[in-house]
Amino acid sequence: MGAREEEIPVLYINDAHEKGDKEFEKWGEHCLKGSLGAHVVDELKPKKEDYIIEKKRFSGFYNTNLEKLLKDLGTREIYEAGLVTNICNLATGLDAKMRDYDVKIVKDAVKDLPDEKYNDNEYFFSRLGPLLGFEIVDTKQAIKEFKGEI
Ligand SMILES: [Zn+2]
Repeated sequence: MGAREEEIPVLYINDAHEKGDKEFEKWGEHCLKGSLGAHVVDELKPKKEDYIIEKKRFSGFYNTNLEKLLKDLGTREIYEAGLVTNICNLATGLDAKMRDYDVKIVKDAVKDLPDEKYNDNEYFFSRLGPLLGFEIVDTKQAIKEFKGEI
């Protein structure tokens, strides 16, 4: 059970970079538009009713149609899952907060970088996220909220 069963829109916001993207200077070439890296893995394959937004920067709002889509969908709250907690989830969540959306981070459905030097989900969940006004939930709570049980 999840969002789709409750007719809650599911949006995929994926990196899809052009060759020579400025972001590659820091992160190396990744997720080239049309490549396997920019493709959603089969286990998470979008359904026909889902939305796919291609982005070229950390935030899903930057130079995309996300803002218009959320407005058209009548969105008030956003549940974030996916990668990378302290980069793209953070940037997109901040941009959503700046547009007055309620942001919930689904803690067992996000992942930080594998490099321990930068991996700090605990800090994000216990301090940074709440400081920025994000609500930290888990998938069980999110599903109950989708069903209107809490
Ligand atoms: Zn990227």
